[in-house]
Amino acid sequence: MAEADKIYDMLIIGSGPAGMGTALYAARAGLSVLVVEKSPMSGGQIINTTEVDNYLGLPGIGGFEMGDTFRQHVDKMGAEFVEDEIESVSVTEDNDIRIAKGRSSEYKAYTIVFAMGANRSKLGIPGENEFVGRGVSYCATCDGAFFRNKDTVVIGGGDVAVEDAIYLAGICTRVTLVHRRDELRAARSIQDNLLSLENVEVAWDTVSDSVKGDAKVEALLVHNVKTGEEREIPVSGVFIAVGMKPDSKLAEGICYLDERGYIIAGENCETSVEGVYAVGDIRTKEVRQVITAVADGACAVNSAEKYLRNVKK
Ligand code: NAP
Repeated sequence: MAEADKIYDMLIIGSGPAGMGTALYAARAGLSVLVVEKSPMSGGQIINTTEVDNYLGLPGIGGFEMGDTFRQHVDKMGAEFVEDEIESVSVTEDNDIRIAKGRSSEYKAYTIVFAMGANRSKLGIPGENEFVGRGVSYCATCDGAFFRNKDTVVIGGGDVAVEDAIYLAGICTRVTLVHRRDELRAARSIQDNLLSLENVEVAWDTVSDSVKGDAKVEALLVHNVKTGEEREIPVSGVFIAVGMKPDSKLAEGICYLDERGYIIAGENCETSVEGVYAVGDIRTKEVRQVITAVADGACAVNSAEKYLRNVKK
């Protein structure tokens, strides 16, 4: 429970791996820390991931278990957590105190860390919005079970699309991965795994045109960009995994964002405004992985400690 009127050294918005890594380092450095999380399930995107096999020391850990492990570690260090949805943040130049207004309360701190992560992008094809919850999904591990012994497609060619297709192949009769190019972007190790599965087909150079159905999804209409051939893939489920969109609305008007909405911040996680930091998938960076998100926490706290030495009365 957050203490009313307390001015925390650090307020962290978001409790995915980046927010948790920051909370761990900040609490361990003796800073008073409050983490505001939208839902009580700490872990961000990873809680919807079946298995994470590339985090050092935790081979093959389930995403949910990983989030829980992170939370237990941070709790032990003494960071405070509150469940609330922040609606606005104010950062004034003449005042060292940053204020975040939530649905339930208002929180004050000397430093603010944006750790809201990123969400799945929409594809923007006809039928996509109409059939959400009726066959169109953005989360295979959440919704895959509804398509047991049915045919599905996964759209995309990155790590998420390939992981989703592998996961669905274990549940569904047949999975078609629809990718717009002739080469996948996903890590080679999971590509090999996918291509070895007998009930998976990859539709290369193929773009999705529309989702068709009546009460529920019945087919995906696609065309081949090289031959122009159009075809209908009869499926019950369409899983869309075409990248991420940063959840950076709160930072708009506060610090600089790039043209895709990522908060501009380097390895030290400093944004264009002093005392305001961005960690994990929400900031401009080359590699968005759990391990790099957690590592951002150490860097942000290092920057914040220097800043706090000057501003704290
Ligand atoms: P991503 O790596 O950006 O891949 C997006 C995929 O969607 C690409 O193959 C892209 O095609 C395709 N795409 C984008 N817009 C499209 C459109 N309009 N129509 C059709 N296809 C479209 O995104 P992601 O797979 O969501 O992964 C997000 C980040 O999380 C990545 O950095 C990834 O490495 C990371 N991640 C890590 C792990 C892990 O550590 N185990 C697991 C999952 C994700 P092109 O290839 O042609 O651009």
